[in-house]
Amino acid sequence: MGDGTKRRAQGPVYETADPVLYEAREGIACVTLNRPQFNNAQNSQMTYALDAALRRAADDDAVRVVVLCGAGRHFSAGHDIGTPGRDVDLPFERRSLWWDHSDKPGGEKYFVREQEVYLGMCRRWRDLPKPTIAMVHGACIAGGLMLAWVCDLIIASDDAFFQDPVVRMGIPGVEYFAHAHELHPRVAKEFLFLGERMSAERACRMGMVNRVVPRAELEASTFDWATRIAAQPRMGLALTKTVINRVEDLQGLRATMDLAFGYHHFAHTHSQLLGEGTLGGQDARSMAAGNKKQVR
Ligand code: ZN
Repeated sequence: MGDGTKRRAQGPVYETADPVLYEAREGIACVTLNRPQFNNAQNSQMTYALDAALRRAADDDAVRVVVLCGAGRHFSAGHDIGTPGRDVDLPFERRSLWWDHSDKPGGEKYFVREQEVYLGMCRRWRDLPKPTIAMVHGACIAGGLMLAWVCDLIIASDDAFFQDPVVRMGIPGVEYFAHAHELHPRVAKEFLFLGERMSAERACRMGMVNRVVPRAELEASTFDWATRIAAQPRMGLALTKTVINRVEDLQGLRATMDLAFGYHHFAHTHSQLLGEGTLGGQDARSMAAGNKKQVR
């Protein structure tokens, strides 16, 4: 309690008022994660701004396709676990019917928050009835994976890598548990047990990424696909997307996530009972140091 109260009293310090940029032209909305100074670590400020940007893309009849990308050196280093703008304790105007988490005791606080900002929002973004393309360069770690996975297509540059190191925190994978659907279960176990980087090239071979292109060609290749998809009829695209998303749900994706979410929160709470905070005694610095050691 003491620790959380102190953080709340000080409050987060935001480095930007625009953690997500939005630009639409020629049928394509480009949504850019914009905390380059912190490798696009996702705080709630960014998550809610991303939700608003995708709402805007959905509402704009001129927009046929959405491209999601990151400003700076990396796509996203994951959820914000240690920048000055970390705002997990703040209340926000909620988008789901879950109540405010910020003043709740025990495991309720994180369970309710993560239902809203991770599971709830990611599932809504995945079902945006317009095609979405993740344009991934550099690091795509943990919470970064969640943003790439909710997109319909993933195009990565040859310098991109994918990693979910949260087992080191005692947690069985990030909140949006698509690992065993995005990858063969045996590869998903390797990915999580080792927590090491998977290159874009291997991710493509495993079927998790659609295309890998040289870094200098990433934007042109992505917008070429986006332009060609934007020429297709809106309803044809929406219906196709809906059918394939429902196929994944029938294959167990949605049920798996509900199940995994319970284990995920047992892990957060177990860690707290052991006196290690919600992250198994890890913090941004220790995780970054551990991640850098691993190259695959
Ligand atoms: Zn969590």
